Amino acid sequence: VNTVLATDLDRTMIYSRHARALGADDATAVCVELTDGEPTSWMAAPAADELARLAADALVVPVTTRTVEQYRRVLLPGPAPRFAVAANGGVLLVDGRVDPDWTRRVAGRLRDCFPLDRVWDQLAHVCHAEFTDQLRNAAGLFCYAVVHPGRVPESFVADVSGWAAERGWLTSLQGSKLYLVPEQLTKSGAVARVCELAGADTVLAAGDSLLDIDLLLAADRGIHPRHGELYEQGWSGPRVVCTAVSGIAAGTEIVRWFRAQLAEPGSAFMLGAQDLRSTLPE
Ligand SMILES: [Mg+2]
Repeated sequence: VNTVLATDLDRTMIYSRHARALGADDATAVCVELTDGEPTSWMAAPAADELARLAADALVVPVTTRTVEQYRRVLLPGPAPRFAVAANGGVLLVDGRVDPDWTRRVAGRLRDCFPLDRVWDQLAHVCHAEFTDQLRNAAGLFCYAVVHPGRVPESFVADVSGWAAERGWLTSLQGSKLYLVPEQLTKSGAVARVCELAGADTVLAAGDSLLDIDLLLAADRGIHPRHGELYEQGWSGPRVVCTAVSGIAAGTEIVRWFRAQLAEPGSAFMLGAQDLRSTLPE
């Protein structure tokens, strides 16, 4: 193994009912998550099929902001991942078990950051009941509010982001979840540890949100879907391409991009860049 395929899950590889509506949704979908017995996430059938084959040949590492409990509801096609990253880099799962050594290292790294309980207090103060369902603490590492995006006041996210940025915390709105995460808690940090453990020296990465930026920038090459926070904000990075399609079909394109990169590094990157250019207005 010399390449890690690090993929975000929600809105990159797997899609909720809401996320499926971000683009064309005409392929048959495969359920990959049950919540209390109800299907809550899907992949397009070709993506599911090709991911299963890819995971049998290569080191596919799910890298998610979900807590471990939320991650464990997801059953990706193919063999169970040897490594997975949950809690935005705060938890490393090795063969499905939490790596306590990594948990200790993360705690050390976060020791000097602005404290979670004060971020929580601020969030509780500004998240009014008319647009907020609940506040959640994620493994004592970060927190998020479940909001009604349509009811959130206009400058609310910008105000929260500004307050948080001054204290070294990142803010990310993904569907109905508004995350507040300390800057030191990164997906790329945990993926670097996976590389050490797996003896890998190359990382290919996929992600759609502001919390994926460090991962995409640290990777040798990256891809983000044509929807989500990064796309909406017009974000771009060196060595990072954008898919040609949006919605659940972007997942298929991302799996194929991973495959193409493994077969011939750089080829699909150039193809992706051309696709992107051809869709931009002159
Ligand atoms: Mg995502």
